[in-house]
Amino acid sequence: MKKIILTGDRPTGRLHVGHYVGSLSERVNLQNSGLYDEIYIMIADAQALTDNAEHPEKIRQNILQVALDYLACGIDPEKSTIFIQSMVPELTELTFYYMNLVTVSRVQRNPTVKSEIQQRNFEASIPVGFFCYPISQAADITAFHATAVPVGEDQLPMLEQCKEIVHKFNSIYGETLTEPEIILPSNKACLRLPGIDGKAKMSKSLGNCIYLSDEEDEVKKKVMSMFTDPNHLRVQDPGNVDGNPVFIYLDAFCKPEYFPEFLPEYQNLDELKDHYRRGGLGDVKVKKFLNKVLQAELSPIRERRKKWEQHLPDVYDILKEGSKTAESKAAQTLHDVRSAMKINYFDDNSLLK
Ligand code: ATP
Ligand code: MG
Repeated sequence: MKKIILTGDRPTGRLHVGHYVGSLSERVNLQNSGLYDEIYIMIADAQALTDNAEHPEKIRQNILQVALDYLACGIDPEKSTIFIQSMVPELTELTFYYMNLVTVSRVQRNPTVKSEIQQRNFEASIPVGFFCYPISQAADITAFHATAVPVGEDQLPMLEQCKEIVHKFNSIYGETLTEPEIILPSNKACLRLPGIDGKAKMSKSLGNCIYLSDEEDEVKKKVMSMFTDPNHLRVQDPGNVDGNPVFIYLDAFCKPEYFPEFLPEYQNLDELKDHYRRGGLGDVKVKKFLNKVLQAELSPIRERRKKWEQHLPDVYDILKEGSKTAESKAAQTLHDVRSAMKINYFDDNSLLK
């Protein structure tokens, strides 16, 4: 069986460091591992419209921004197909057939959908399209026969939903769809990076992000304003590192070589954490170190992004070509789905017999 990756992001804003540790950096590693036969990376504009129907311009403006972020992080269009979801209309048709295989109560139980409904104050007025987005995500994944989906932890319920659809479809219509496997970051701190405000998730929709494209001084300003342990008021007070975003970011980004380079008085992160717990280590010092770590990680990405920004017509062509390639793959799956469902009436004249 071919090894195929499908993953993507909503063009609701530029990508942030949560995307980077949660999914983007893993994608780049998988891409460069040479272990995968096909890699599809989708800019999920149709999904983004499910909760942004009144802001199509925002989605449109962010298509190229997300593509630039991909290229900046090392997604290589020679190895990975980058495409735009709505340019592959087959995905919508698949969604429509899959909707019949899922109950309303099943979608209502999806914990990610539940919390996103709350976050968006949708309780009394959930758009039907938004409610159904886990089903459309199953269409995206199965259209490419993806075997691996590298995403953040919030996507676990979506993968569960997708597997259920695959089983149900295959059991009713015969073996057609491929069951995917989720690939979560191995570093616990990267599963769901908190926002700089300490909220549980850094998210474009919550405005608590450090963006991959933020300039050096913006990153610094955000880091220095970060939420930490609210009970760590004076330098000498003992502090808490668990659930403290500054230390979670260090867990996510810090490499051993950054200590001799930026903070040689400590051997490693454990020593730094111990000192914070004991008391006597101020937040400003830790934040300054985090800022240096982040700058070291982000500056090559920022530089590559600036180069690609000079070549927007090339980025546009990459998306156009990628969308064509993606469409022909999805069309093949849709053809197989229609045959399995016996709604391929005009493939031959067997309807007459
Ligand atoms: P929105 O607020 O519009 O939903 P988002 O910031 O949640 O945007 P998505 O486009 O929904 O971003 O998510 C894209 C990918 O990034 C998914 O795989 C998701 O799991 C991952 N991801 C998003 N935010 C984080 C985070 N804070 N930590 C780890 N992974 C994340
Ligand atoms: Mg999201």
